[in-house]
This record gives sequence, C-alpha cells and structure tokens, in this order.
Amino acid sequence: MISRIDMRGSLPEDLRDVLPRAELDVEAALEKVRPICEDVRHRGAAAVRELTARFDGVEIERARVPEQAIRGALDELAPEVRAALEEAIRRARLVHRDQRRADHTTQVVPGGTVTERWVPVERVGLYVPGGRAVYPSSVVMNVVPAQEAGVESLAVTSPAQKEHGGLPHPAILAACALLGVDEVYSVGGAQAVAMFAYGTEECPSATMVTGPGNIWVAAAKRLLKGRIGIDSEAGPTEIAILADETADPVHVAADLISQAEHDVIAAAVLVTDSVELAEAVEKELPGQVGATRHAARITEALSGRQSGIVLVDGIDDGIKVVNAYAAEHLEIHTADAAEVAGRIRNAGAIFVGPYAPVSLGDYLAGSNHVLPTGGCACHSSGLSVQSFLRGIHVVDYTREALAGAAAHVSVLADAEDLPAHGAAVRARFDWQVPS
Ligand code: NAD
Repeated sequence: MISRIDMRGSLPEDLRDVLPRAELDVEAALEKVRPICEDVRHRGAAAVRELTARFDGVEIERARVPEQAIRGALDELAPEVRAALEEAIRRARLVHRDQRRADHTTQVVPGGTVTERWVPVERVGLYVPGGRAVYPSSVVMNVVPAQEAGVESLAVTSPAQKEHGGLPHPAILAACALLGVDEVYSVGGAQAVAMFAYGTEECPSATMVTGPGNIWVAAAKRLLKGRIGIDSEAGPTEIAILADETADPVHVAADLISQAEHDVIAAAVLVTDSVELAEAVEKELPGQVGATRHAARITEALSGRQSGIVLVDGIDDGIKVVNAYAAEHLEIHTADAAEVAGRIRNAGAIFVGPYAPVSLGDYLAGSNHVLPTGGCACHSSGLSVQSFLRGIHVVDYTREALAGAAAHVSVLADAEDLPAHGAAVRARFDWQVPS
C-alpha cells in the first residue's frame, strides 16, 4: 500500500530530488487556465457562468449568492456543527489577534524618523475549495486573519454545487454567516481567481486572492500574480511524520490516512529510524484504510509516488530529510519531540508529540490550515494576519536631519552615476552640499 525508500547508510546528496513528491505540473496547467482567465477578462460574468456550466456541471443564473440563502443556511445548520464552528472561530481569533504587528517608529538621527505602518489591503477575495470535499473550516481559516488584519471588503467564493441548486455547499454559506460575511459567490477553479483579478459586472475586482485549491486554482494564482496579490500556492495536502521507536504505529497510520483522505494526489510520508515502527505502520494501514469511507481515494494517495516510508539511520538524519522535504504539515513523534521540533527549519506547521495531530490543526488548534505545499514551506509561510498587511515606510526628516545626510547622498549618487539624485538634495540648500 505504501512504498519504502531506504536511505540508511548515507543520505543522498540532493535529497529533494529523491524524496517522494507529487508530480504536480502547474506549468502545464498554466496553458489550460490561460484561456479561461482571458475569457473572464474579456467577457466577465457571462464567461464565469459558462465556465461554471462546463467545469462544475451546473447552470447558474448569477454568481452572487443571495443574502437570504446565506442566512437560511445558518438557520438549517445542525446545532453541533454550529457549536464546533463557533469554537473553531473563537480559537482562531485568539491566535490571529495576537499576530497583529504594531506600527513602529525608529529615530535614525535627531529629527529623522522612519515609521513602519502596517496597512491592510483594501479588498480580498477568499477562495474556499469545494470540488472533492467541502471545507467550511477553510472559510474560518481565510476570513478570521483577514478580519483581524482589518481588511474592509471581504468576498468569499466556492464552487457551485449541482446538488445544492448551484449554490456553494450550505455548510460553507453557514460558516460565512457565522463570520458576518455577506458577499459570497458560487464560482470555483481558475475562473474564480480570474473573477477577483479582473472583476466582472457582478463582482468588483479585489486587491488580493487567498486560499487553498487544486492545481487549476494554483495555476491561475501563479498566472495572475502581479495583477492580483496572492498568498502562497497552497495545493494538495501533505503530511510528513518524523518518528522513532517510541511512536505509536496506530496513531502514525491514522494521521497518514487522515491527510491522504483529502485528495488522490495528497502526500503522506513517514520518516523513521525504526524498522520496527515502519513494519508496524505498514501492517496497520490496510485495516484502518479499509474502515474509512474514502478507502479508494486514500489507497490511491498512499500508493502514489508522492507517499512513502523513508528509512534513515537516526533522528539527526531524519531532521535533515524533513528539512529538505519542507512539508506543509510535519508531525514529530519522538522521545524528545519538543527538542526535535526546535531543530526544524522548513515546514508549514509543526505538530509536536502524540497529542497534536494534524486533524487538530485542520480545525481547532487555533493555528491556520492554509499552508504552503510542494516544498514552498522553505520560503513561504502559511496564511496569517500578516498576509493581509503591507508595511509602509513613512520617512520624516527635518531640514537639519537632511543636511546631515546630504554629503553622503551626493557621494553615493555620483558613485552610481545618478547625479540628479544628489542635485535633488542640494536644491534644498542653494545647490550646495551643506557642511
Ligand atoms: P477546488 O475548489 O480547489 O477545485 C474545484 C474546481 O476546479 C471546480 O470548481 C472546477 O471549476 C475546477 N476544475 C475541475 N476540473 C477542471 C479542469 N479539468 N479544468 C479546469 N478546471 C477544472 O476543489 P478540489 O478539487 O476538491 O481541491 C481542493 C484542494 O485543496 C485539494 O487538493 C486539497 O488537498 C487542497 N487543500 C489544501 C489546503 C492547504 O492549506 N494547502 C487546505 C485545504 C484543502
């Protein structure tokens, strides 16, 4: 069900090339999404409706979801789901509220200051996936940080569902209602990203689009980046588990399965120095997989080339492997899990010890679940309040403070053969360099 990669002896030099990873050809998908995005750009709402019919198999009259449908979905929501979502929102708010950075002023010289002012982007489009699974939790993970950042205009979009009359899934609408979001669209895929980038008759363009999605969503984000701001390319889910002989194989197997459940190209990777644990997990998987609702999808994900059990000589080598892999989610199941976690440089989020499974982070830890995938965790962060803020430098110098810098500015401007730069300073001092 899951293959083994034996790295005992010596670790390969370029670990990234030999580690299991989904062959996610976003570049090839770019060619497919380019005409979709162009169509939305030129024909607006009509193109969005036609693309929804083509890719989601449902005719919609308008993309904007009526407010009464959003309120109605909350009225119909099962009380236990409502209670769980409310608790998820409460915990996410606690964490994200603490992320807000304060403006900061540095006095560089007497009379010369630089202030970094954090300003939220004006309008954000939040993508909530809805193809294979339904993610009301992703509404929480997108909306809470944007709200805590102070974004004024928020719109959520999620694919139209045939079985729900062309609206997004009711649980998604209910989550929007709980969070006070009343601008919601029933559009998915690349056309949703293009709708936010270019705007349509129904949906004003946005400054930024965030949220996870499949390869078409990721490709559209890559294509339209610049025209619109994006977060990271949060694609198909990945879990890596670093474990030693103290790990419980039942927990390890359950956690690998839990993320494989997302997608046939989801990745589940166990890195261990214990052959006994590897064998126990291999033995445990078939029974647990067989007992789940999505056994076929999970089996495909676990047996795909993106998943595997990597054997290493010791936890130090294991740390090198997981740092090279830069997983979206990394669980540590070792004797000294907190110490090992402190040595991890690359991961979207780290889950420490046996009682912090990724499922907790998916819903209720308070952390964000929109995280970088495909190795991007070595240079990108997950969604946070910071994702929605820009730091603007405000430079404020008096005449005296500028006088103190003028000679250096002149010298550097001449050194770069940009004499007009120096002249712009001298113009304020009768064209002389002040002494
Ligand atoms: P999705 O909403 O991302 O994609 C569905 C849309 O794809 C449809 O609306 C359709 O318009 C479009 N589409 C489908 N087939 C197409 C085709 N052949 N050509 C062009 N467009 C097409 O939903 P999904 O497919 O379920 O994918 C969700 C993904 O998000 C999963 O891979 C999951 O693992 C991932 N996810 C990631 C995170 C994260 O933080 N990284 C969190 C949650 C979910």
